[in-house]
Amino acid sequence: MIEINNVSKWYGQFQVLGECSTRVEKGDVMVICGPSGSGKSTLIKTVNGLEPFQEGQIRVDGISVGAKNTDLPALRARIGMVFQNFELFPHLSIRDNLNLAQVKVLGRSVDEATERGLRYLDRVGLLAQQDKFPGQLSGGQQQRVAIARALSMDPIAMLFDEPTSALDPEMINEVLDVMVGLAQEGMTMMVVTHEMGFARKVANRVVFMDQGRILEDCSKDEFFGAPRSERARDFLARII
Ligand code: ATP
Ligand code: MG
Repeated sequence: MIEINNVSKWYGQFQVLGECSTRVEKGDVMVICGPSGSGKSTLIKTVNGLEPFQEGQIRVDGISVGAKNTDLPALRARIGMVFQNFELFPHLSIRDNLNLAQVKVLGRSVDEATERGLRYLDRVGLLAQQDKFPGQLSGGQQQRVAIARALSMDPIAMLFDEPTSALDPEMINEVLDVMVGLAQEGMTMMVVTHEMGFARKVANRVVFMDQGRILEDCSKDEFFGAPRSERARDFLARII
């Protein structure tokens, strides 16, 4: 469903991605990990065209992300993205946060968008918060709203960039539980995270990056059992 072929990207002289290749099949849960600055966020953002790249190809459901004639807003509407800092609109109620893109991008009526948005809000356990504003919710609640908002667009895949790393420890699990549920229902997911408990529970693939390169791309059991590269072994030894 997502094919990344030999993708390279530079900022001036600095190569941030070096010949990255991997594929995500429908229903895969891929966890991407690696040290700070290794290019994880950059790689995941290339998938929905938020980061341009100079070499290689990326296809999502057969559509080439880098091609000039690709309708990127239409592609982005089909791929959910959840960031570290929630990125909710602070001046809109939770209900309106859920409605906005459904109405503006997908052309749904407000009634239809509300019905769908509230269904997902209920699913993440926050139906009672619909009239509040983001600033009135905890970080964990805001992140669950962000997930519900992404799901209400009926995405074909979900991208997560360190969705729990800005949260206080006691809120991490409420967000991970929602993500585990999604994974178990068969959602196709690419997840940048250092939460190795999540990886062990639901990932079927683990990618390890270092200095812009994919050093490991293997099953969870291979990764946790016997990573091939010394860098991945060092990394695991430090974070587990
Ligand atoms: P972290 O774990 O800290 O989030 P990361 O693996 O997500 O790190 P990226 O954010 O993808 O790493 O950044 C990869 C490298 O690219 C870093 O060295 C970063 O400093 C560099 N970089 C990112 N954005 C820019 C930019 N706009 N201009 C120049 N260099 C950049
Ligand atoms: Mg990052």
